[in-house]
Amino acid sequence: MFGAPGSGKGTHGKILGAIPGFYHCSCGDVFRGLSPDEPLGRVFVEYSSRGKLVPDELTIELWKKHTHALTVAGRLDPKRNTLVLDGIPRNVHQAQMLDKFLNVTAVFYMCSANFENLVKRLQRRALKDNRLDDANLDVIRARLKTYEQETKPVLNYYGKKIVHRINTDGTPTETFAKVMRLVVKL
Ligand code: ADP
Repeated sequence: MFGAPGSGKGTHGKILGAIPGFYHCSCGDVFRGLSPDEPLGRVFVEYSSRGKLVPDELTIELWKKHTHALTVAGRLDPKRNTLVLDGIPRNVHQAQMLDKFLNVTAVFYMCSANFENLVKRLQRRALKDNRLDDANLDVIRARLKTYEQETKPVLNYYGKKIVHRINTDGTPTETFAKVMRLVVKL
């Protein structure tokens, strides 16, 4: 799942993850699950509170540990399951690092023509999900800038053949119907 902060990639990724054989893995959720007392938890707060990306090596290491733990626990079968990645890779370097471990079959690019929608969704989420990084307009701007500059080039990296644009300006149900139509086709 690919898109700007607030694009709905998490919402739809979670629903997809409920389909048997699919497993939703949100990098932001894994980071938020860390304790602020552990070193990586502190690093996460330091970067995310400024709208910046956590350094690549730390991010990929954490992702590897997390997926390994899921595999050992029998919750993920890497040979048979489809991993619905959400929030990772977030730059081209991460995409290159992940190439060793993944066979990326499709990128669902959640895009909105309405920039104001994104900001509104983020501000609503700040209160509902207790997301401090969404509460401050300066941090939101910084995250959107990071997305434009560092994350968007990932689309070119994967290329037109596997990138599918999904317009998210309709209702969540309409958007999910588009996501499902693609999943069935693929
Ligand atoms: P959103 O859903 O708004 O896109 P996430 O929950 O995915 O936000 O991520 C929140 C924050 O966690 C990011 O702003 C960033 O600081 C950090 N983060 C999440 N995923 C990554 C990643 N792949 N690489 C680096 N930092 C990340």
